[in-house]
Amino acid sequence: MREDYEVIIGLEVHAELATHTKIYCNCTTEFGSDPNTHCCPICTGMPGTLPVLNEKVVEYAVKAGLATNCEIARFSKQDRKNYFYPDLPKAYQISQYDLPLCKDGHMDVTVEGKQGNYKKRIGITRIHIEEDAAKLIHDAYTGDTLVDMNRCAVPLIEIVSEPDMRSAEEAVAYMQTLKSILEYLEVSDCKMQEGSLRCDVNLSVRKKGETKFGTRTETKNLNSFRAIYNLIEFEANRQIEELEKGGVIYQETRRFDDVKGIGYAMRSKEDANDYRYFPEPDLAPIVLSEEYIADIQNHLPEMPHIKKERYVQMYELPEYDAEQLTNSKKIANFFEETITHWNNPKAIANWIMGDIFRKLNEAEIEIDACPIKPKDMAKLVELLDKGVISSKIAKQVFEEMFESGKSPEKIVEEKGLVQISDESAIKEIVTKVVENNPQSVVDYKAGKDRALGFLVGQVMKETKGKANPKMVNEMLLEILNQS
Ligand code: ADP
Ligand code: MG
Ligand code: ZN
Repeated sequence: MREDYEVIIGLEVHAELATHTKIYCNCTTEFGSDPNTHCCPICTGMPGTLPVLNEKVVEYAVKAGLATNCEIARFSKQDRKNYFYPDLPKAYQISQYDLPLCKDGHMDVTVEGKQGNYKKRIGITRIHIEEDAAKLIHDAYTGDTLVDMNRCAVPLIEIVSEPDMRSAEEAVAYMQTLKSILEYLEVSDCKMQEGSLRCDVNLSVRKKGETKFGTRTETKNLNSFRAIYNLIEFEANRQIEELEKGGVIYQETRRFDDVKGIGYAMRSKEDANDYRYFPEPDLAPIVLSEEYIADIQNHLPEMPHIKKERYVQMYELPEYDAEQLTNSKKIANFFEETITHWNNPKAIANWIMGDIFRKLNEAEIEIDACPIKPKDMAKLVELLDKGVISSKIAKQVFEEMFESGKSPEKIVEEKGLVQISDESAIKEIVTKVVENNPQSVVDYKAGKDRALGFLVGQVMKETKGKANPKMVNEMLLEILNQS
């Protein structure tokens, strides 16, 4: 049944911009303060106040537009989108309607499909600037709804995609690439759990071979990759089942409870006429010069896909490693700083993708909060490369570094973990182990290779993992092949 249908998805993504102040006043955009401490007559919409556009908002939106291959409008304007709701003190939101700042862009994304990875180009219809609404807090105890104006008029960009995506995997890949680009540009902190990056999913289905789109629903405010994926699976199945039953899809606005895995209809969808859009009379049009746009273009940072290519070329890393390290700018920064202290890119990439990612996941923190700093990470690999510690001990030291934030030299010294590379000391232990395990010697001679592994293991046990494994192997072979 599902195979007979094609799923059509278009995303509307809202990103809060990382400006210090709000879009039309001097209030701070800082997150997490006491309610209603970051507001003034302008952002609370008092009569008689006038907005003044924050220039940074335009700069950040143009950056996002250029990085996603959009055309930048030399002339654009802001409009009032009217609706009545307690989160909107002016009863209109200043947004952009017919003349957005950026349009007609695209992004190339790598999709992790069920039959392997593939590349796809997704169109970007437009990027416009607008203001965020206040936050409503529902008090379950009293039944009251409270309004926190701190978020009111925090600047946003809305990035609207073409209906080009055909699966949950493609939508997630698009969102991941977009997040990575916005982070690289440093125009948004993209903290999905705090709501600074969130998306509305427009979805319809049609029978394969059909050329007309079906009726779509719009599910609002998804704020994790998992929720986006789960909602798409849920909503595609719901629409297909409905159609198979002979039912119809209503154009409606919906929400999704990711914990329960269920979507709900909220209201029938309004269209543009309902908002009575008209030009904002208190703000002048935005007119951009060629020099202004060229200047931003010339100062764009290295984008993730370019950085990835460079890692492959310069550090001879496999594509996969390069991708893992460059998806997030913070991880790329960590990697680049580490290799300035010890130049072994492949080994350092392995530590980051393996042990560091695992520990960060467990602790649910990001790499900038990692207790292990690049300099110490480099030192650990250096100690290992120079044979001062064995790889087994290195793992142990790594764990301790993550727990205590101590430097690897200090841990190695305090715990006496320096690798034993002294020939006579190792020989003594190897000889003892061979004497104590005559059966293994017999097994080895009978061609059972596993016996060698066992004897190495015994030596490592005797030395608490500190013996140089290469030397242990060589010496054991020498003795076994002699006797
Ligand atoms: P609105 O602003 O009213 O939500 P838009 O025309 O701007 O309407 O479309 C919003 C989003 O819906 C875009 O991302 C677009 O790609 C997507 N979209 C439009 N039609 C469909 C459809 N039939 N199925 C899925 N997505 C669609
Ligand atoms: Mg919409
Ligand atoms: Zn204000």
